Formats: sequence, structure tokens, C-alpha cells
Amino acid sequence: MAKRKKLGKKIRFEVFKRDSFTCQYCGQSAPQVILEVDHIVPVSKGGDDELTNLITSCRDCNRGKSNIELSDDSVVVKQQKELEELQERKNQLEMMVEWRKGLKELDQTTVDIFCDEFLNITGFEVNDVGQSKVRKWIKKYSMATLFEALDKSYNQYDEIEKVFEMVPRIAYYIDNPDKRVNPELFYIKGILKNRLAYFDERKAIIWLVEAEKYCEIDDLREMAKEVRNWTEFRETIQFWIAEGKHEQNNN
Ligand SMILES: [Zn+2]
Repeated sequence: MAKRKKLGKKIRFEVFKRDSFTCQYCGQSAPQVILEVDHIVPVSKGGDDELTNLITSCRDCNRGKSNIELSDDSVVVKQQKELEELQERKNQLEMMVEWRKGLKELDQTTVDIFCDEFLNITGFEVNDVGQSKVRKWIKKYSMATLFEALDKSYNQYDEIEKVFEMVPRIAYYIDNPDKRVNPELFYIKGILKNRLAYFDERKAIIWLVEAEKYCEIDDLREMAKEVRNWTEFRETIQFWIAEGKHEQNNN
């Protein structure tokens, strides 16, 4: 009898993985039992080291079985089934990847449609950074809303960056007419957010809405560009609000 060559670690791992680290004879699994790789058709009877001839067995089942060939071929059938199932899982995974790729392509088409329209209206191309923003917008808003927002933004603003940045904000107010806040305030909030290390968006928008009653929007915008930190912003805007209220009470 030829001396039995020990199976490599890699192939043993493949067999264990496929069999979920479970003995295919008794159903016990690691770490409760020590697992070994068993030849379905024994090597002494011409069985090879192919995956289809290998099966996970615990030490007890393996030793008990010794060189006795399986009389019942149900294990082989079962293994064959598992292999098919594994192949099926693999196929399904590949299908899923394909499907997701399809979705991404559809997204890109939609992004392209918006960017083409942006180019038509403004004469400016949307760069890569802009396109990744558009990709987020199309998940939130319909194309009709975005086109309407783009028209409005283009009519309202001169600076091309601003026309672009205002699109989602205007889209939000098209879709949520009950929450109408001057979109300019969100632009100002954006300036602050970009400039200040610490920034509380929620508080900022509340104060900005309040301050707008008493201040010129241009003054708020200038202030947003000048304050050096959150504390300075907070103190300034609260002072303006207080002054505004005071003046109103005196009139
Ligand atoms: Zn076992």
C-alpha cells in the first residue's frame, strides 16, 4: 500500500469551510470535537484528494469508519447537493453584484441627465465633486423637483457655485412647502459650518431664522464670513436678536 500523503492545510480548510466545520456523519462540530478530513472513497481503494472525495469527519467517526467504504451513498449525494447549493449561492452572489452594478449605472444615467440640464441652462459643466453631490440629490428628490429647483436657483442667484449649491435646498422647500424658511439662511448656515471648527447646526438655523426678522440678510451673510468661532457667532447673533427685539418694543 502506498504511503498516505498528508492533506495540505489549504484543502483541509476548504473542506471544513464547505461542511461548516461540522462532522458530516454525526453532526457534531468544532470545537466540541476534533475535526479531520475523511476520504469518502478510501485512498486504499483508489479514492483521490479531490474536494468531491473529501468530507469533514470528527475523529471518532473517522476512526470508527477506518477503511470501510460507505455502503450508503447518501453522504456522497448530500455532499453533491451541498456543492450544488454552494455553487448556487455563488451564482446568486454574482447575480447580486451584477444587479447592484446595474443600479449604479442607472444612478449614473440619472446624474448625467441632471448635469446635462445644468450645462444647458447655465453653460457650466458639473465636476466630479459636484456629480457626487447630485448622486445624493437624486436619491432624495424627483427629477421634476430638481429641474424646478435648478430653474429657480438660476433665476435667483448669479454666482455659479451658489446656483449649484442652492438646488437641493430649494428642492427641499418645493417638496416641503409647509417648512418654508428663506433658503438664503441655509446658505449662510453653510458658510458658518464650513468656517467654524465647532458648529451646532440646529441652534444656528433657529437663531438665523429669528435674526432674519430684525436684520438684513446681507448683514447676516457678512457676519457669517467674519466670525472666528462659535462663541463669537453666538454672542453676535444673540446680541442682534436682542437689539432687534428691543427696538421693536420701543417703536
Ligand atoms: Zn462524527
